[in-house]
Amino acid sequence: MTADDQSRLDRRLLMLPATPRDGTTARDVLWRAGIETELCDSVRVMASEMQRGAAAVMLPEESIGLASQLLTLVIAQQAPWSDLPVLVLTRQGADSADASLAVSALGNVTLLERPVRVATLVSTVRTALRARERQYQIRRHLAELRQADQRKDEFLATLGHELRNPLSPLLTSLELLRPAAATEPVVARVIAVMQRQANHLVRLVDDLLEVSRITRGLIEVQREPVEVAEILAAAVETSRPVIEASAHRLTVDVPDERLTVLGDSVRLTQVFANLLNNAAKYTDPGGSIALTLRRARDTVFISVRDSGIGIDRENLASVFDMFTQVSRSDRRTQGGLGIGLTLVRSLVALHGGSVTASSEGPGRGSTFEVRLPLVAVETASPPAKDRRHGFEGWRVLVVDDNQDATETLQTLLETLGASVAAAGNGREALEEFERFEPDAVLLDIGMPGMDGYEVARRIRALPKGGTTPLIALTGWGQQDDIRRCFEAGFDHHLVKPLDVDRLLEIVVSAGPTMH
Ligand code: ADP
Repeated sequence: MTADDQSRLDRRLLMLPATPRDGTTARDVLWRAGIETELCDSVRVMASEMQRGAAAVMLPEESIGLASQLLTLVIAQQAPWSDLPVLVLTRQGADSADASLAVSALGNVTLLERPVRVATLVSTVRTALRARERQYQIRRHLAELRQADQRKDEFLATLGHELRNPLSPLLTSLELLRPAAATEPVVARVIAVMQRQANHLVRLVDDLLEVSRITRGLIEVQREPVEVAEILAAAVETSRPVIEASAHRLTVDVPDERLTVLGDSVRLTQVFANLLNNAAKYTDPGGSIALTLRRARDTVFISVRDSGIGIDRENLASVFDMFTQVSRSDRRTQGGLGIGLTLVRSLVALHGGSVTASSEGPGRGSTFEVRLPLVAVETASPPAKDRRHGFEGWRVLVVDDNQDATETLQTLLETLGASVAAAGNGREALEEFERFEPDAVLLDIGMPGMDGYEVARRIRALPKGGTTPLIALTGWGQQDDIRRCFEAGFDHHLVKPLDVDRLLEIVVSAGPTMH
């Protein structure tokens, strides 16, 4: 689709009219005012058109009961910049339940009482369109920001590569000069200085490249079971020269228990070496650094505490941001780019963990604590069900004689990942059951001809119908109706309008045995 096509879709008013005549009248009136209206003949059409793009939607309050769930779902899935205006044409007089449902469920709602004067209709729609136009502006700004951010990341990557190229011949040349300079103490000292500084440059450039790889999602962590104590030992080894150079006292407190996490040992070592280096760097010589490991239930906590310069409250939250350095005037000898902690946070996050900083204040030391999930628990607990994909892989048969109700429900379940077949009466339901072989059936009770009870009994009598979960979806919630449902062979009884979360609970609790 071209940008022009999309912008046309984004500018339309979608209308679900109470009657076809209402629709054409409103469309003509709005057309004369220069507003393009697209009529939708069902809630389902409206919902799918909304996903393609719309400036505002208009519907009569009579449709709300049926539409609210589907529309709420579509509206809930809007991008953060989007707050789609919803215009509801209400009946005259007292406040209705449908109108208040719309106001509470659909967000940015304007109520218009019928009959609506032409001028009122036009000006209300215009206001909605203008509000939407401002949202589109925000969308454009966000896209520009994203682009700028992307360009910055690409620039960092190029910069890193380009800086690295001249560094390696420099280092090699210094290496070659070394023997020749051995007899000249001054030259030897100068070469040693150059070598140290060049090595420092290499580290900075490596950090820069690393962080640009992370922000562009190019870093891979190879996750396998690794023992945390071993990682910490390797990190201490890496940081020992820096710690010893400042004559800090390091204490390591690690329990005997073997604690295993799923991780990339090189990356995790890098995390703790960075934290130890910082502790050494931001502590005056002769300070103390404590590295501790402990476990609480399914999480390991690793903390690096120092007796150093500390961090004041307002900077605590931002130390992990890229290029953040708390105080540029008070730079320690081994300055960095303000990337180390960004790397730490990203790498920890790639391992499913988190990191926090705390400090009692300037001069009172800092503590960095990393949390990582323990491996045994991670494999034992199934991932939490995401509502949006709760029905992924499910085949659901929906039976209702009200076509709008089946269509709405069908779209709702499809949006949640199910494949759905629909039937409008008992006979069709039985045919579809045999053809489609659903994992679950949502069945209306009050249908002309064969009612839901009868359909349930017949499904239960079919060879494949013995165990398929049957869920009654009815307007009736009396004790007696519920009893009749269970007698007819239903497993569950839900009252209309459908509570999607309740349905998901049923599906989840039925679990894999239903597949
Ligand atoms: P860099 O050390 O290269 O400046 P980092 O991302 O590692 O970058 O750290 C960001 C900033 O956080 C540092 O510049 C410093 O101001 C502060 N910081 C980090 N670790 C400590 C610490 N242990 N004690 C006090 N300040 C710290």
